[in-house]
Amino acid sequence: MSADTTTTTTPPPATTTTTTNPAPPSQQEESISSSSPSEMSISPSRAATLISNLTSVTTRIIAATASLDPAPPTHPKNPIRLVAVSKLKPASDILALHNPPTLHVHFGENYVQELLEKSRVIPAENIRWHFIGGLQSNKCVTLARDVKGLWAVESVDTEKKATLLDKGWGERERGESNSSSHHDDGDDRLRVFVQVNTSGEESKAGVDPAQTAKLCAFIREKCPRLKLQGLMTIGAIARSKATTSEAGNEDFVCLRNTRDTVCKELGLEGDEELELSMGMSEDFEGAIAMGSNEVRVGSTIFGERPPKAQAKVV
Ligand SMILES: *Cc1c(COP(=O)(O)O)cnc(C)c1O
Repeated sequence: MSADTTTTTTPPPATTTTTTNPAPPSQQEESISSSSPSEMSISPSRAATLISNLTSVTTRIIAATASLDPAPPTHPKNPIRLVAVSKLKPASDILALHNPPTLHVHFGENYVQELLEKSRVIPAENIRWHFIGGLQSNKCVTLARDVKGLWAVESVDTEKKATLLDKGWGERERGESNSSSHHDDGDDRLRVFVQVNTSGEESKAGVDPAQTAKLCAFIREKCPRLKLQGLMTIGAIARSKATTSEAGNEDFVCLRNTRDTVCKELGLEGDEELELSMGMSEDFEGAIAMGSNEVRVGSTIFGERPPKAQAKVV
């Protein structure tokens, strides 16, 4: 992520040409539902829109980070990671952002089956997938074992799911976990975030803040193939909508306090310190103000999502 992506974006091709010779609708559809990755076609105007949206989010992240100056004690040292949430969007959208000029690598998905398909059809070696959706125990082994390029699982909220992810990562084809986990330091464990239910709503996934340290300790002690990367929250939507960078957000305050408690109880510091994954389209600037290390932005980049039944991978 860097500010100079703005200088390399190309404008969409002149739209006047389409008025003289519009492509028949059937032909347009064909280009989207093509099943061969090498033939995956990307509409230049769609690509231009996506690149412009991503660039604008990147610019806003940089501005939000800069406005933290002088950095408060909780301000992260590293640049904030932007996970582009591509759930229910076609693989061609992902490829459009992974290609030059943006070369984006971090993408987030919510459904195991959809992620599996996308990880198979997208002809790219170095996409870093984040699984951010509600996790079912019976999908954990498949997720950890079969998704090429899986970089992190962000929605771990029980010991059972952690254990099954650990097992699945161990069953990966030899050499694959190394090449696809993208650790620069030779650590080939699967990164996981513990999802915390910071809003106290029963319908929300996530572990209770008071139980978070226990689950974190379990992962560190009993799951040798997992690396505890941080904590994640979604937060109450109503509260998110009211969030501005001036007004704090209770969910973000809660996640930060939970992280501080966990680090203290587990004696984590320095390189072992935990990240905060918080902030979405409606509230990522507010999350950055609260010390977020990673924001997960979907609709501001990709637009409104289709209903799940109508979503197409390719
Ligand atoms: C869908 C989703 C996002 C992105 O939401 P937008 O509001 O579209 O930015 C982020 N995090 C999680 C866990 C999600 O399910």
